[in-house]
Amino acid sequence: MPERMVLLNPGPVTLSPRVRAALARGDWCHREPEFAALVRGINERLATVYSGMAGRYEAVLLTGSGTAAVEALLATFAPRAGRTLVLANGVYGERIAAMLTAHGRPHEVLAGDWTAAVDLAALEQRLAADPALRHVAVVQHETTTGRLTDLASIGALCRRFGARLLLDAVSSFGAEPIDAAGWNLWALAGTANKCLHGVPGLSFVLADRSAWAAPDPGAGSLYLDLRPYHRAQHGDGYSPFTQAVQVAFALDEALREHAEAGGWPARQRLYQARAARIHHVLGELGVVALLPDAACSCVLRSYRVPAWTDYARLHAALKERGFVIYAGQGRLSPAIFRIAVMGDLGEADLAGLEAALRAVAAAARPAP
Ligand SMILES: *Cc1c(COP(=O)(O)O)cnc(C)c1O
Repeated sequence: MPERMVLLNPGPVTLSPRVRAALARGDWCHREPEFAALVRGINERLATVYSGMAGRYEAVLLTGSGTAAVEALLATFAPRAGRTLVLANGVYGERIAAMLTAHGRPHEVLAGDWTAAVDLAALEQRLAADPALRHVAVVQHETTTGRLTDLASIGALCRRFGARLLLDAVSSFGAEPIDAAGWNLWALAGTANKCLHGVPGLSFVLADRSAWAAPDPGAGSLYLDLRPYHRAQHGDGYSPFTQAVQVAFALDEALREHAEAGGWPARQRLYQARAARIHHVLGELGVVALLPDAACSCVLRSYRVPAWTDYARLHAALKERGFVIYAGQGRLSPAIFRIAVMGDLGEADLAGLEAALRAVAAAARPAP
């Protein structure tokens, strides 16, 4: 394997030297005041990544991957009386519905084609028709395809109907805009190891203060019940269970780096520039995008596997050159491949990727 592997999969990401070094800060006990202070600091930073959330939303840190945070969010905040309306147009939206089923929470799914946007007219019609639907669960960036959900429109509908928004922001938090007040955001889930550039093992939920303060009906899960975490982390600073201590060191450093570099708008611009550059090269090689440009997140794009190769060969040829791309999921596999642009990538990485794509295409394509 090449010495440096550049990860172009949607998390975990290529680490900066600073974040990697933070992993070795020391051997800390999770029940000592220095760790409590670290967790408080991380929760503070998470709540100020978006200025509109500061003072109104409070974070809790959870040991587990992004899926754990989404499931904990639903277990803690999806209603038992009334129903949650799930908007699903990919793997992660469908996973939300599967979690609500697993937890026995009443819900209905507004399912859409994986390559289509959420049906806004249907959403409006359902919210208008059924006063029991006052929670809407949706994925901000559907990583299945790279589509950025139109939350401006969905959020405006939530506001108009007084519906609480439950958001899977796992692959968007830190790089895409989040308008908490404008979208009637009740709670969101995020993770350390995507747009924030930490390492895998910690995830988080940010929720409106009134969501934390609401009566506690229990979550139907011991580990995933977020209220005890909230009480503990915003009390003495400890957590009910062992946290991934070293992963917290890395997340703390990654959040500092994120803020120093200019926060989410700077990260969005950085990703947009990277994605545009890769898009341009692939276009020259005749590789066609799955979705129109305007529908895409800044984080990841999907492309159709070109006729001159197949996914396994393309993946292997790029990996040999130090670049890990990502397969399509579910029914979009093996027709597409995905390229994410998160992580600590330098000019040499991007130029190297460009050269690798051109070389792989030149070797694989039949001579004209
Ligand atoms: C990555 C991701 C998740 C969580 O995945 P994990 O593998 O559990 O970290 C959830 N939702 C979206 C949209 C994602 O991209």
